[in-house]
Amino acid sequence: MDIAELSQKILNRDRRALARAITLVESQRTDHRIQAGELLSSLAKHRRQALRIGLSGTPGVGKSTFIERFGLMLTAQGLRVAVLAVDPSSARSGGSILGDKTRMELLSRDPNAFIRPSPSQTHLGGVTRRSREAVALCEAADFDVVLIETVGVGQSETVVAEISDLFLLLLAPAGGDELQGVKRGIMEIADVILINKADGDLKSAATRTCADYSGALRLLRKRPQDPPGFPKAMMVSALEDQGLTQTWDELQQLNNWRREQGHWDQRRAEQAQYWFQEELRQAVLSQLNTEEAQAEINRLAPQVAEGDLSSAKAAGLVLSRLNITTG
Ligand code: GDP
Repeated sequence: MDIAELSQKILNRDRRALARAITLVESQRTDHRIQAGELLSSLAKHRRQALRIGLSGTPGVGKSTFIERFGLMLTAQGLRVAVLAVDPSSARSGGSILGDKTRMELLSRDPNAFIRPSPSQTHLGGVTRRSREAVALCEAADFDVVLIETVGVGQSETVVAEISDLFLLLLAPAGGDELQGVKRGIMEIADVILINKADGDLKSAATRTCADYSGALRLLRKRPQDPPGFPKAMMVSALEDQGLTQTWDELQQLNNWRREQGHWDQRRAEQAQYWFQEELRQAVLSQLNTEEAQAEINRLAPQVAEGDLSSAKAAGLVLSRLNITTG
């Protein structure tokens, strides 16, 4: 593969080249990892940046409906929109949350949109690096907005939040007055909570749910990166196209404020550091899983159990024999 040519095509907004490049970064083959590294560093020089919006919600809450309508609204304004998915559960279910071709049919045909199904990797570490690299590729391909979707399964939200500038949580109207078991940690990373399906028979339940979440958000610790009024809960109907322009207005308002106040740059810098540490962690962990390392661990384990060797010393011995590289 000619990396210089691929790089140029991506910079020229060629969507097929972008798709090929994402396949390249998803590959685990060593030669592909090297090429991916070359490609990413050649593109990084151009320093193009998109607004990265993370979006999470349980299956059935309306994520694809929302993304399609929201995406179409943005492309109608002349913006270019990429949609990526982070789906750690896909490895388990064997499917992919965006794998179904009928999802987002209109948006996928829009020349100003790019939709990429989730990578099916076996561990979250692999998925996250590839998603991060896919976001970088979309930015190089000059997309204005990159939507990063994930199914709410706990850990994946944190990962998506660490890739995103803004984080949206999509919820359905609740039947009762409970807060739908939404974990506090997830509430804490949300910038905007959208109560979807605020239409028809569900409208009044949506109104109640929205009030509940507005109350709950007010009780959270104030974050320095929030202007007054944020984080906030809002009602939308993706199906009836209601509340989507307001959502975009709010997101832009929040984003502009963070840019002006320096929070945006600070956040990207913190994220870069987070991922630096995460790369290191993943590299060490993957080396610990090699046969060689496991054999050494198994060899030392009985001595540790017998008390002949301290656990710290044994760990030191194993670590000193690792040949750690990223890849
Ligand atoms: P996802 O699994 O989160 O991607 O959810 P989908 O977008 O596939 O939507 C699940 C179901 O909810 C579908 O039957 C949609 O038509 C429906 N749905 C999505 N958005 C709305 C909405 O705003 N109002 C109503 N009433 N139904 C919706």
